[in-house]
Amino acid sequence: MKTLKLPIGLWMWGIAWAVWAAPNSTSSWALHSEKTQFQETGTYQEVERLCDQWSKRYPTWVSCQTLGKTAEGRNIRALVVSKSGVLQAAAAKRKNIPVMLVIGGTHAGEIDGKDASLILTRSLLASSASDNPLKQLVMVLVPVFNVDGHEHRSPFNRPNQNGPKVQGERTTALRVNLNRDWMLAQTPEMQSMLAWVHQWDPVLTLDLHVTDGIRYRHDVSLSMSPMFSENARLSQLSTELQQGMLKRLTAMGHTPLDFYPVFNDLEDPSAGIMQEVESPRFSHVYAVLKNRLGILVEDYAWNDYASRIQTCMDTLKAALEEVTYRKEDLLKVARHADEQGLFLGGKKVALDWRNVYESGPAHPSGTMDLQGYRYEVHEDAPVVGGRRVSYDITQPSTWTVPVYKNVRKSSDTTLRLPEAGYIVPAAWASVVKPHLQRHGLRYTPLTVPVSTLNVEALRVNDGDVAYEPNSFQGRQRTTVKGQWTEEQSSVRAGALFVPIHQPKGLLVAHLLEPSAPDSLSSWGLFNTAYEVSDYVAGHRELELARWMYHQDPKILEIYGETIYQQLPQWRKIYEARLAKEPGFLEDTEARMDFWMNRLPSQDPQRNLYPIYRVNQSPLAHAPRATRLARR
Ligand SMILES: [Zn+2]
Repeated sequence: MKTLKLPIGLWMWGIAWAVWAAPNSTSSWALHSEKTQFQETGTYQEVERLCDQWSKRYPTWVSCQTLGKTAEGRNIRALVVSKSGVLQAAAAKRKNIPVMLVIGGTHAGEIDGKDASLILTRSLLASSASDNPLKQLVMVLVPVFNVDGHEHRSPFNRPNQNGPKVQGERTTALRVNLNRDWMLAQTPEMQSMLAWVHQWDPVLTLDLHVTDGIRYRHDVSLSMSPMFSENARLSQLSTELQQGMLKRLTAMGHTPLDFYPVFNDLEDPSAGIMQEVESPRFSHVYAVLKNRLGILVEDYAWNDYASRIQTCMDTLKAALEEVTYRKEDLLKVARHADEQGLFLGGKKVALDWRNVYESGPAHPSGTMDLQGYRYEVHEDAPVVGGRRVSYDITQPSTWTVPVYKNVRKSSDTTLRLPEAGYIVPAAWASVVKPHLQRHGLRYTPLTVPVSTLNVEALRVNDGDVAYEPNSFQGRQRTTVKGQWTEEQSSVRAGALFVPIHQPKGLLVAHLLEPSAPDSLSSWGLFNTAYEVSDYVAGHRELELARWMYHQDPKILEIYGETIYQQLPQWRKIYEARLAKEPGFLEDTEARMDFWMNRLPSQDPQRNLYPIYRVNQSPLAHAPRATRLARR
């Protein structure tokens, strides 16, 4: 440690921690990043070693745990760190000790979070300061979430980033972006993480990232999504905590932003910036659906690695201090939001939000002074031509630009929730059940059939289903629209009843309402419901149409009296349309459909959204003895 050369600038905290760490440590506790003056970052083996060493050196303060395994079979390690005397999830809950989850390396090339959190943890462990936040809370630290990606190292992985020299990659070994996988949870890494989150129930989750190329001089942004909560107190507390962190960071000399800015025109900053709305596939929005808080932290990619680690450590420090300062409120509001979740049935909610700028011309919500650089917009760029921007980073400049932060409920996804919940028919239970389990949601399997159940069903037309043309996360995402109508249905034993009345009722709606941005339907899991798989041959259609037109007794034989008796009336309508509608006359497909759509469908289940809403629990229909305990 004595030979450690700390980089310039903001290292007053780093120096203090190094001094605290020295008496109890050996040089093996210095990170590879420190030994290389923050030119490089260590391999995952370093995380495994420190996890093991610290838990042995401080057995009452550190527990080295394994969340699960990656697709390539590596262990995902977590350090549970606290000086409160508690290192177990159940004990933390029982004793009202808040848990803060810190995730580094979700995108493994953006690895500031790993080095910063480990250096900070080492210092906090060695510090005997009376205001050490570890005395007040449990920090659950996952230094690297995407471990396979971390070990797929290359000097070329992050061309938009200023160091370290070699780093991991963005996706997992299955090439899935983990910070878009919180709802679908298709990776073993995310499935482990969801179980971990369910077990530890963190009041705050920090997901540590690095920006993707934007040029400015703000060293960190903190994004939160309080609007997704149905609990006003939780939304309010989210904003207060964010403001508290921004204040602390500013006092430490940083220039934080309260959102992740996106240029309206990528080639011209003067066109202004927009606040993008993220959806629950991101960690910080998912946390809100579980009635907790989440922050997406983005260090500024063009700062050198040493400065970024300092910024990231200060951000963690600000978060630890905020959680300590607000711990009573955080625990109280989390409990309140869980209780309110029990009363979501029948309530009108918004499942998605949009920046009004995205849907057309909009007035800016104001202007802001963004700390940038002098830049030039080339109409005919050097070498390659075309419209491109270039920056002169020797010339700092303040851009006074319009800012668009007006975020509104999306009308497509504003709906009234069912009074009781959802029915997943037996056939679809095996598709849906693993997702309910992964998200820790309650459901009850029906052990007996229910012959008449009043449900709301969504039957769609072909034009109501839209598939995204490109695969995303290996899935064909789907948008389904339509009106829910009341029907009577019969449900086989093995169907699942998913009550909306549960603490995470909002998460239930986000998974099972088809219009929600990250519902199982939106991720394409129900696409077979809309596929045509049974055809009537053209010659057979012609034969049936001719028989219907001429009132052939074969129609009576095949389809029965009711249809047969209507044939003369249908022919009258048909001929009237031929006479009056030239478009119909020319559209031979429509003319065939006129006849075929009047016959019972050969595929009646097609275009039925496979989950029902119910306003009354089906458990009321089942004999008492057959009801199962809630899971
Ligand atoms: Zn990232």
